[in-house]
Amino acid sequence: MKKFFLGLLLLFLGFVAYILINTFATTSKQITVEPITKIDIEQDAISRFQQALRIQTISHENVEDFDSTAFSAFNQLIIDNYPMVDSLLEHQYFSEYSHLYKWEGKKPSLKPVVLMGHLDVVPIASPDKWTVDPFAGTIKDDIIWGRGTIDDKFTVIGILEATEMLLKEGFKPERTFYFSFGHDEEVSGKYGAVKIAQYMQEQGIEAEFVMDEGYAVTQKLVPGIDKDVAMIGVAEKGITSIALQVDMKGGHSSQPAKETAIDVLANAVAKLKANPLPATFSEPMEGFMDALGPEMGFVNRMAFANRGIFKSIILSTYEGAGGSGNALIRTTTSPTIFQAGIKENVIPTTARAVVNFRIIPGQTAEEVKQHVVSTINDPRVTVAFHGFNNDPSAVSPHNVEAYELINKTIKQIFPETLTAPNLVIGATDSRHFSGVSKNIYRFVPYHINEQNIDSFHGIDEHIPVEDYKDAIRFYRQLMLNTK
Ligand SMILES: [Zn+2]
Repeated sequence: MKKFFLGLLLLFLGFVAYILINTFATTSKQITVEPITKIDIEQDAISRFQQALRIQTISHENVEDFDSTAFSAFNQLIIDNYPMVDSLLEHQYFSEYSHLYKWEGKKPSLKPVVLMGHLDVVPIASPDKWTVDPFAGTIKDDIIWGRGTIDDKFTVIGILEATEMLLKEGFKPERTFYFSFGHDEEVSGKYGAVKIAQYMQEQGIEAEFVMDEGYAVTQKLVPGIDKDVAMIGVAEKGITSIALQVDMKGGHSSQPAKETAIDVLANAVAKLKANPLPATFSEPMEGFMDALGPEMGFVNRMAFANRGIFKSIILSTYEGAGGSGNALIRTTTSPTIFQAGIKENVIPTTARAVVNFRIIPGQTAEEVKQHVVSTINDPRVTVAFHGFNNDPSAVSPHNVEAYELINKTIKQIFPETLTAPNLVIGATDSRHFSGVSKNIYRFVPYHINEQNIDSFHGIDEHIPVEDYKDAIRFYRQLMLNTK
């Protein structure tokens, strides 16, 4: 008996030792980079950004609301404000208002780099709630306010400013650069990014890497880490919407059948909510834990280093964090349309719902549909895809030169910042570029935190003047670093 307990004790100690060895064997994955001296950004660069914010390049859901004069004005603004870009770079319009610039490098045989941004913005849902005019480009307390400040005009203008600056300095990049600026990202990118990507593929252009919006430098948004964390999106989730429909006998509400179309549909939706797709570590999430685990306190570090053992604890922590935490670890289930009935005393013959799913890498829209059918398990509910499907993007590698280049540039411009790959839970225009490059990274250079995260597509969108200046510095440095 004694021997048995001794054996058990040894086994337990061995297990603890195994966990501790794993924990301390994981060393920092952060690269060390010499900080650079920040260059001065002229005051005029700020007023040019304000001008861009004043143009109401709004993408409306309803195409009839499209204001072509605003988009024409934006075309003209680029010509007027960036004369060297306009005269020295090759330029093509797509669908009149999207742009593709080509800046030929010294070595055209090298694969080019594609930097993306979009110049359209979402409409103002509640103008009365804004404390500033959303289209005035107001500067108050060293902050620039307005729709498009962080999504995504600062990228477009930041790239143009950096390029104009380098052209003035007589710089010529080693590799060719393309700038792809879409005018309809907020409404699917069909006439902008899709057409540009198609064109590039037809031309047989294979890019070294593509960079688009998606993540930023997060501040105090990663639990367990005090330092800023720049996340580089190496993949984005897929999207599918599935329509559910029930057709049954209706009738007068004074003598209802045991089950009606509404009952059956409500039950089906409830089943889907109660049985979400399983939580899992996607490949980007594994990269995230590898990069940040060693930077965390002992408990988190131990959990991430031994994630096989602590998997269920880690997953339930993310699940418990709600919203974006849950979205990082699973395909989410979100009923968005629920329709039935037209009159208070009539039992409808048809009930219809649409459920939107955001698909984690490793799963497909087809698998999601299978899950829906088997979970509902009721032949009275017809299940069909609603609209178009997007499977999740491929996962771009984070052990290649292109990633390292972005990583290094981030650390030069934002010293002391940690970096990590991660999964983007929304959709970006870059998903259309899968045929142009295997290396697609989603990062824009500004700080996102509790204080401004809701202003994205929301109220009082803003960017600190210094962040805007850093964006110009970032794109300039990225161009200088690209070999
Ligand atoms: Zn955007």
